[in-house]
Amino acid sequence: MARVIGFHYTLTDQNGNIIDSSSGRGPLLYMEGTGQIIPGLEKELQSLNKGDKKKVSIPAKEAYGERQESMVLQVPLDKLPKQDIKVGNQFRGGADNHSPVFTVIEVTATEAKLDGNHPLAGQDLNFDVELVEIREATAEEMQHGHAHSPDGHHH
Ligand code: ZN
Repeated sequence: MARVIGFHYTLTDQNGNIIDSSSGRGPLLYMEGTGQIIPGLEKELQSLNKGDKKKVSIPAKEAYGERQESMVLQVPLDKLPKQDIKVGNQFRGGADNHSPVFTVIEVTATEAKLDGNHPLAGQDLNFDVELVEIREATAEEMQHGHAHSPDGHHH
């Protein structure tokens, strides 16, 4: 059986700037072992009990990975799926939802430079977490391979 874990978090970068937080939302739910959250954080949360709070620091390689320069591509403009390309435009690198997203970082008259690294790649991340829920995954969750929130909005 897999467990479903729910936690609140505040994510800050190395300068203490808040990048993301579950404040004002429900806790983030995930099913253990399904890769729904970054590996370093899953490892830390594994040993916590309901009600525990902890500050954890996750190195880049256990978070969104190191930046890879091979994920920065020069692409001729006529190979891109739309015209009028601007810096900041984003394209998915494949048909499936888990394909990397490429962001346009530079445009010339003939080419665009695309960066497929996650925006948080190469960054060590600090999480302030509070574990608020631990339960066994339901049969339906096991079948889907991910956690469902109580209100049923999960996909
Ligand atoms: Zn589902």
